[in-house]
Amino acid sequence: MNQNSKIKTTSKRIKPFKELKLLKLMAQIKTRKELIEAYLKFFESNNHKIIPSSSLIPANDPTVLFTTAGMHPLVPYLLGQKHPLGKRIANVQKCIRTTDIDEVGDEVHHTFFEMLGNWSLGDYWKKEAIKMTFDFHTKILKIPLEKYAISCFGKDEKLTEVKKDEESAKIWEGLGVPKERIIFLGKKDNWWGPAGNTGPCGPDTEQFYWTGEEKAPKEFNPENKNWVEIGNDVLMQYVKNENGDYNEAKQKNVDFGGGVERTVTILNGLKDNYLADMWKPIITEIEKLSGKKYSEEKNKKTMRIIADHIKASVFIIADGGMPSNSGSGYVLRRLLRRAIVNLKKLGLENKNLINQISQKIYEIYDDYDELKNNKKEIEKIISIEEENFSKTLEKGLNTFNKISKKGKEISGKDAFLLFQSYGFPIEMTEEMAKEKKLKVNKKDYEKEFQKHIKLSKTASKGLFKSGLADNSEKTTRLHTATHLLNEALRKILGEEIKQKGSNINPERLRFDFNFDRKLTNEEVKKVEDLVNKKIKESLEVKVEETSLEKAIKEGAQAEFGAKYPEIITVYTILDKKEKKGFFSKEICTGPHVKNTKEIGKFKIIKEESSSAGVRRIKAIVQD
Ligand code: ATP
Ligand code: MG
Repeated sequence: MNQNSKIKTTSKRIKPFKELKLLKLMAQIKTRKELIEAYLKFFESNNHKIIPSSSLIPANDPTVLFTTAGMHPLVPYLLGQKHPLGKRIANVQKCIRTTDIDEVGDEVHHTFFEMLGNWSLGDYWKKEAIKMTFDFHTKILKIPLEKYAISCFGKDEKLTEVKKDEESAKIWEGLGVPKERIIFLGKKDNWWGPAGNTGPCGPDTEQFYWTGEEKAPKEFNPENKNWVEIGNDVLMQYVKNENGDYNEAKQKNVDFGGGVERTVTILNGLKDNYLADMWKPIITEIEKLSGKKYSEEKNKKTMRIIADHIKASVFIIADGGMPSNSGSGYVLRRLLRRAIVNLKKLGLENKNLINQISQKIYEIYDDYDELKNNKKEIEKIISIEEENFSKTLEKGLNTFNKISKKGKEISGKDAFLLFQSYGFPIEMTEEMAKEKKLKVNKKDYEKEFQKHIKLSKTASKGLFKSGLADNSEKTTRLHTATHLLNEALRKILGEEIKQKGSNINPERLRFDFNFDRKLTNEEVKKVEDLVNKKIKESLEVKVEETSLEKAIKEGAQAEFGAKYPEIITVYTILDKKEKKGFFSKEICTGPHVKNTKEIGKFKIIKEESSSAGVRRIKAIVQD
């Protein structure tokens, strides 16, 4: 059966919410969970199918680091692909907006937030979309009209090809929003898309709420910060083509996005999101630990940043993120380190603080399985990152202070030193410099960075040995740790274990192997302990070139299914206690350490399924 056939497109089919048993839900909504339930029920009753939130880290889109809006995972359907659940979809989507990191500290912008979303994929259009938004806001949430205002797309010199969106304004007016509360703004404020150079685009119409203590002015002026945007209907009316023409779209879509945090806040008669139920317990915990008060103006921004960055980090790790020096991993690292620096500003350091504060996050968001199921791993990753950074933070801050006395600008070399030796992300150095009214030479910093990458590459080719504890050295240690891990798995789980894949970057190793169930915590611990034991025993690593046949005969491990040349390199980790005289022997191109003691401490941070019958372990090494 055609899934879409059940859905009629005329407005008559949409049951007015009164007919539905939503009365109970209309009791005052005060919490995040109540809002989400009311929203989804309302749209379900309006024939929307509810879909789950997508991962924060987009699976099939390497062009972006994070999911920034509910619309994001639905792009293929907005472009015309048929959604298996039909033309009316709604959900609550986890979002990360790195572009808002600098706004964090105010009352309404977060790095991580939840977005209410409903979509018409070529189904209902302006009239019904606006009516549903209006009903949800004014009837379900009972937002009084006196505090409600609207913006629509007006004329814009940069966009003369399309007309002013009088249509939407008229619909709002027809529903009872006074004319003075409907304003027309230009492209910057009320236009969306296209995402690239061509494709769907169109006007949007935004809803605002008056948070001021005094009566809302008759006339809506968005410059007044007491008006807070709570929702936005994007109306994909046009398609822009390669010639730059805007044609009416064949499939007209609607995309509504509404902020959960902002909406709950206003429903509680508050102005500050951090006083609503998805933030307050975290803030209270920070107050408790620091003995400082959130109500004191001087602590507010610091506490907000700490709470925000920790929450975002927990959610990113729950979706598979790992701190690293590039991509989403770098954003995560930045968030955690900035949280640590801000904790220090409150006089807090070095006590597994982030995990303590995070307990509140697990409690608030107990409806997210990914937090529940990955709690242990999340905590482990956080504590490692916190421990490592805390070690160098004090020294780093001292160095920063010395550097900042040199002049008006922090040189690229010094900024790079802070990054390389003390793990200060450049954005953090810039922020700290700004507090001292100093600039950072970012251009030179980039140059230093590139120079370093080149050096590392040369070093890893064995052409030049740099004295730095650089990436290539870390990789080398992880290579040898992988061999120890491979053998430890065989010893603990059974000889039938074979490597199915391996991937190493300077941050971690990833090892796939055949095994058909989850490892118990005990097994993971045993494997980890055995690897660490072999590291402590300071075993020599021998390298030789030999024939494939001879290597296999001597018991060398080869990657399952891999093709090898006749003459291969074999790395052997010698061990007199073993009958064969070695702990591990593997065909491998290296590079490897000369002695296992160079590896440092080995830690497994994740054990998960990779595919059917294949498990995956992620592990790191530490100094
Ligand atoms: P603003 O102009 O306030 O930054 P926006 O135009 O970026 O908002 P949209 O992209 O339209 O917002 O997102 C839809 C809704 O999501 C907004 O109406 C708002 O309620 C919420 N929202 C957007 N960004 C954030 C954020 N950083 N933190 C919390 N909520 C947000
Ligand atoms: Mg914004």
